[in-house]
Amino acid sequence: MALMIRSSAIHAAGCYTTGPIRNGARVLEYTGPRISKEQADAKYEHSPTTYLFGIGDGSKVIDGHGMAMFLNHSCDPNCETDEVRGRVWIKAIRNIAPGEELTYDYNLYDGDEDEAVCNCGAATCRGSMYSPDELKRRARAAKRTTRKNSR
Ligand SMILES: [Zn+2]
Repeated sequence: MALMIRSSAIHAAGCYTTGPIRNGARVLEYTGPRISKEQADAKYEHSPTTYLFGIGDGSKVIDGHGMAMFLNHSCDPNCETDEVRGRVWIKAIRNIAPGEELTYDYNLYDGDEDEAVCNCGAATCRGSMYSPDELKRRARAAKRTTRKNSR
């Protein structure tokens, strides 16, 4: 299978397949140096765009480089990530036709709210790239703050 990077309706650039991909197939690996969460925070403190992928318990991240970092988030994706012994693979979760853009659910759990807004256009779009659990956590935290302020 061949992949190509070109402009995307979701975000600046996206990763597309030129051939069919079967459900369950490993499409590509999320490659890049492994650095600690603290190193990543320091390195990207002033950068609006990062391609970090949390692995293990989240104390380490992959500082993404290569094709996988061009995959955009979608709330109705055609791929998912699969961590196997510290390596992260992008895997198809349905049959994908030639010319389709490859996407996976970022399930973010860190970072600034305004940088996580989702415009994927899916019918099931949750409006954010945060994971459903993280959205719940943030909603609870917001409620706590409101209560504290209204005292
Ligand atoms: Zn969305």
